[in-house]
Amino acid sequence: MACSPNYNLEKGRVKILDYYSEVQPTWCSGCGDYAVWASLKRALVELDIAPHEVLLCFDIGCNGNMSDKIAGYRIHSLHGRVLPLAIGAKLANPNVKVIAFAGDGATYSEGMNHFINSIRSNYPITFFVHNNGNYGLTTGQVSATTPQGAPRTANPYGPTALTLNPLELAFALNPSFVARAFSGNINQLTEIMKEAIQYQDKGFAYVDILQACPTYNKETTHEWYLERVRDVKKLNNYNPTDLVRAARIAKNMESHIATGVLYKNDSIPTYLDRIRFSQDNLPVNQVKRHSIEGILKAFI
Ligand code: SF4
Ligand code: MG
Repeated sequence: MACSPNYNLEKGRVKILDYYSEVQPTWCSGCGDYAVWASLKRALVELDIAPHEVLLCFDIGCNGNMSDKIAGYRIHSLHGRVLPLAIGAKLANPNVKVIAFAGDGATYSEGMNHFINSIRSNYPITFFVHNNGNYGLTTGQVSATTPQGAPRTANPYGPTALTLNPLELAFALNPSFVARAFSGNINQLTEIMKEAIQYQDKGFAYVDILQACPTYNKETTHEWYLERVRDVKKLNNYNPTDLVRAARIAKNMESHIATGVLYKNDSIPTYLDRIRFSQDNLPVNQVKRHSIEGILKAFI
């Protein structure tokens, strides 16, 4: 089945053109989504992952509008529900790389239970959160990561609940892989994405991407982040297996904001390790034992 009009199995290494879509972006000028889109394509190409070897799962939101701006197998979920959809796909066929995308609204509000349980169950997928501090697609409402006092549509005095630092929550759940990236640093974002995509068979690889939304977020802007982000690779003796230090360093979201792969622990069994599916019992292999010709004929 052709999932990319430009991809040809005979051509050898994967190229950026293989992920090309004729549908052009409609994001606002200066939106961080452009950088995430570009970094994703770079990461997949540098890992030599072809469009038919990965499933891209999108939530609702400005981030989800990427779903037709890239070639490959893609699916759009209901709002806040991208994680169960992506996890179901991975459990059905663990041989395919599965990447889920969602915004801060979908992840840390509607889909919060899925986020918590994905870390607890250590589902082997990669999850990229476009964290822009509000609901952008619906014209800038307060999200769980909107800064205190920051006005938004319908909330002129800012959030009425305390602002969430999602990494603090993730670290309380004994995670397998936690990273923080910034849309203003495409080289670092690409490297983090590559590591998170490669890691997924060892566990739930979660990356919170701090992203500019110049249309509605006038507080934590691209420039605001540029003055504060610090790559943990530049810290003396940074050890990404030290949970206590990673959790402490992730707490600061004011003067210095740590970016990079903050933590990884590949000794935690994944969900698949725990249920011990044999290859024969994997849904993708069970399906092969049944003829679907009759079903297909009904639709032709
Ligand atoms: Fe990007 Fe914000 Fe515009 Fe959405 S509203 S496209 S997140 S700048
Ligand atoms: Mg958002």
